[in-house]
Amino acid sequence: MQQITLLGATGSIGVSTLDVIARHPDKYSVYALSGNLQLEKLALQCQAHQAKLAVVSDSVAAAKLEGLLQGAGCTTEVLYGIDALCQVASADDVDTVMAAIVGAAGLVPTLAAVSAGKKILLANKESLVMAGGLFMQAVKESGSVLLPIDSEHNAIFQCLPNDYEQAQSAGISKLLLSASGGPFRGWSQSEMSTVTPDQACAHPNWSMGRKISVDSASLMNKGLELIEACWLFDVGPAQIEVVVHPQSIIHSLVQYIDGSVLAQLGNPDMRTPIAHALAWPQRIDAGVADLNLFEIGQLNFEKPDLEAFPCLQLAFDVAQAAGDAPAILNGANEIAVQAFLDQRIGFTQIAQVVGETLSGLSFTEPESLDAVQESDSKARAFSTAYIAEIES
Ligand code: NDP
Ligand code: MG
Repeated sequence: MQQITLLGATGSIGVSTLDVIARHPDKYSVYALSGNLQLEKLALQCQAHQAKLAVVSDSVAAAKLEGLLQGAGCTTEVLYGIDALCQVASADDVDTVMAAIVGAAGLVPTLAAVSAGKKILLANKESLVMAGGLFMQAVKESGSVLLPIDSEHNAIFQCLPNDYEQAQSAGISKLLLSASGGPFRGWSQSEMSTVTPDQACAHPNWSMGRKISVDSASLMNKGLELIEACWLFDVGPAQIEVVVHPQSIIHSLVQYIDGSVLAQLGNPDMRTPIAHALAWPQRIDAGVADLNLFEIGQLNFEKPDLEAFPCLQLAFDVAQAAGDAPAILNGANEIAVQAFLDQRIGFTQIAQVVGETLSGLSFTEPESLDAVQESDSKARAFSTAYIAEIES
């Protein structure tokens, strides 16, 4: 029986994870669940999955959740704050941690799970983008097993040899990272300048949280994934090619030096990579419908339009620059995406904010978690000030 802590249980990945877990009560049990604003949903999840512990952000939320749980006769114990997130991510009783908090808020608890040597199911790509060097070092030192949940990285993982250590010795020439192209594929910058948050969040193939949906629409998500892939698979950005594939059936590919290209296919449903990582190296039922190639009929491929989607170019540049450049890109992007969702800036200004922040700050080599957080804060302060400037 694997005991699981689910960080970000109330989100899109959290809900899909609980769906898979509920299909296998003989294999998995829930140790702790965390949420932020959706307390009623969290209370229902605690009840349905008999979580031992629940973690929320502060004492006010904790009191509210306790009230909801008591009313329902549920005995889940409630904790709050970042230390509590780290505690449930690293507790002795826990085998596996699903890291599915969105954004930089996921970094510290995810690293706590890594340092405790847990099996990590990594959805929170932002933590790897921000602190890739420290993160991978901690994985090595603790012997933690790191399994990618991001569908593209999970696909690449499935197409790599079991004993994969290095691309060169495994005979790999290239990783081909799939991108759906998002809701604005084929649009120009000027056509995108007036889109609304709801339009940006209406992804053609995937239903996801609002932040990653906006990132998918701007192709920043693919940029973050490029950096994520460099760390996960120990390759440089030059060994990765982004392939726009609008149907989202091929989730990514690995090209070998003998001309073979291996791909992982499936319906676009996050329960597949979640089930894969939960059960790895075995396989379990994910509740996902069989792929029907006759219904799909055609698979198409295009090159990404870097002029229309400058966020992807920025991420390529940052992946080359390394140091704390990815942390700065990520921090600025989180501020810009929130400003767009709050309708303070336009969609195409997201790239402008991130670009200005990257040009306005100098890069350093972050040697500690504190240094990474300092780079993140610098980026947030710079981009917040820049947004205030362009707003007025
Ligand atoms: P959601 O916005 O749906 O969920 C985010 C989760 O994080 C929620 O549980 C939310 O709580 C919690 N949360 C938000 N802010 C904080 C905070 N400051 N402190 C603690 N918890 C917080 O996001 P997704 O599930 O879509 O994405 C989660 C992660 O997985 C992201 O990093 C994303 O990039 C990655 N990912 C997602 C995919 C998808 O298909 N959704 C695919 C690949 C990767 P609450 O809702 O209660 O406020
Ligand atoms: Mg992805």
